[in-house]
Amino acid sequence: MDLTSRQTIQYIKQKYGFQMRKGLGQNFLCDASALDAIITAAGLTAESGALEIGPGIGVLTARLAAAAKKTVAVEIDARLLDVLAETLDGYDNVKIVHADVMKTDLAALIAEELSECNSVSIAANLPYYITTPILTRLLEDTSLHVQNIVVMVQKEVAQRLCATPGSKAYGALSVLVAYHCIPEIVTVVPASSFLPPPKVDSAVVKLAMRAAPPVTPRDERLFFRTVRAAFGQRRKTLINALCGAGLFAGPKDELRSIVASLGFNETIRGETLGLSEFCALSDALSAHGIS
Ligand code: SAM
Repeated sequence: MDLTSRQTIQYIKQKYGFQMRKGLGQNFLCDASALDAIITAAGLTAESGALEIGPGIGVLTARLAAAAKKTVAVEIDARLLDVLAETLDGYDNVKIVHADVMKTDLAALIAEELSECNSVSIAANLPYYITTPILTRLLEDTSLHVQNIVVMVQKEVAQRLCATPGSKAYGALSVLVAYHCIPEIVTVVPASSFLPPPKVDSAVVKLAMRAAPPVTPRDERLFFRTVRAAFGQRRKTLINALCGAGLFAGPKDELRSIVASLGFNETIRGETLGLSEFCALSDALSAHGIS
């Protein structure tokens, strides 16, 4: 069965009386070259494990199963379980877990199902309604120990993930990504590559996980609170944004002198700061008793 073929998807829809649910982000991939790009970027070997989020009818799952030692896929929609049993028949190295990925302990799932694999990569054509919560969760969970996260996301999200300081797309998510990974846009995928086509174009992004973050803040929680506060009110200066977010409750002059002591201009905005500047800032705030 060629699962990238529109005829196959129509056949499955008819056979199972299946209608795609927009609310679950069900835009199925029918573009073999985009699929190839995801598989290549995931860097799987016969000894590695793959974790997929949202297998749908199994188009990516089958390719992961062919490339990896074992694949585990988490799907929320019970209607797809019978479909997946048919489309993945013939692969004895795939486990489908019927669950909401946001409520699944992924570290426990990896430990349970993929412990015999020498590395694990995550691959997904993500449901766009929860792209940011899923990615934030994957990046913040340091117990996952995965090698690569390769995801299809909206093109604008891909640009945010890979954005550098000073660019329009740069934000708190870009900092979270830069802290944990080396990001790369692998390829842009037009809306016409999906059935049904979404309203926006998409892109495949590879997040190669770093062995360790490139900066070491004294207080990692404060580092990310500072980042979120700095981007919380983009139009404001860094000083006003930090005060406005309640991160710095002391006199504004004290914050001015902290910012000046770091060599930053008083009117600087958060969107121009990179990892090391945010690290220096949060360390200085920490030294002033902020936690
Ligand atoms: N992997 C398939 C493909 O590439 O054609 C389907 C991708 S489709 C964009 C997103 C998939 O995620 C759907 O199968 C949808 O049911 C599933 N999904 C949506 N929300 C989910 C959640 N919270 N947990 C797990 N799967 C979810």
